[in-house]
Amino acid sequence: MSTNEKSIYKVALVTGAARGIGREIALTLAERGIAVGLCDISPDVHKTCKEIQGLGVLCAAEVADISKEEDVIRAYEAISSKLGAIDVLVNNAGIGKLKSFVDYSISEWDQTFAVNVRGAFLLSQKVLPNMMENHNGLIVNIASIWGLRGTSGRSAYAATKHALVGMSKCLADECHPYRIRVIALCPGNILTDLASGSEADTTDWMHPKDVADVVGYLCDPGSRAIVRSIIEVNGWGKPPEFK
Ligand code: NAD
Repeated sequence: MSTNEKSIYKVALVTGAARGIGREIALTLAERGIAVGLCDISPDVHKTCKEIQGLGVLCAAEVADISKEEDVIRAYEAISSKLGAIDVLVNNAGIGKLKSFVDYSISEWDQTFAVNVRGAFLLSQKVLPNMMENHNGLIVNIASIWGLRGTSGRSAYAATKHALVGMSKCLADECHPYRIRVIALCPGNILTDLASGSEADTTDWMHPKDVADVVGYLCDPGSRAIVRSIIEVNGWGKPPEFK
């Protein structure tokens, strides 16, 4: 496949790409001819990398804990030296537990923020200087419907996703003069390992590809006018009550 036929971008970096939504986003961008850098705390990220290379698309993967600055610096430098300047960043890696508020330990609370918020902050800071210099770029933050609403059992997760939505709004404003697009996606329930253990009826839950296709569209020329947005990706599942 020749590179960059269907996309306005050339090189993407996707976090949490070993499985689930991140893996699907990486494959979907690769299908558009975008070279993809992957990072994940799990060595399975190398399996996604092999799949993408099998499509004939450039890919590089690094095992990294995105909550750690030294890991982010190492992964960013290794990936950008192999693939070139990153013009799409997808902050996808995230964690969350179903747990009542009073049962959260301080370390569980802090770790949720470290991955879901600090990780996105660290990666965004690394890619922004090049994007600003080139007056081109796209940052997609994978938040959640719980970044807009609240429900019992998800206090830490929802707090981090609200933070990610807030960070996206402010960053979009700072990036506007540089023509860098910043978009937060707020998906509802997706069938992945993160959601396993839920006792809910999963009949109408979405699949990772449903979110990946939205990210793919954001790389298509036809979406160029969407420059700063918070997008709900709900599918046909029962809408969460507005709280
Ligand atoms: P998942 O658990 O299947 O995959 C998450 C990936 O992130 C894993 O590969 C994991 O190894 C990686 N990861 C975790 N901690 C990391 C760290 N410190 N550093 C690097 N990588 C790390 O989850 P998923 O369902 O694919 O979720 C992906 C994103 O989508 C998350 O941000 C999640 O909050 C969001 N989301 C998921 C759902 C859902 O229903 N599954 C709904 C809305 C939003």
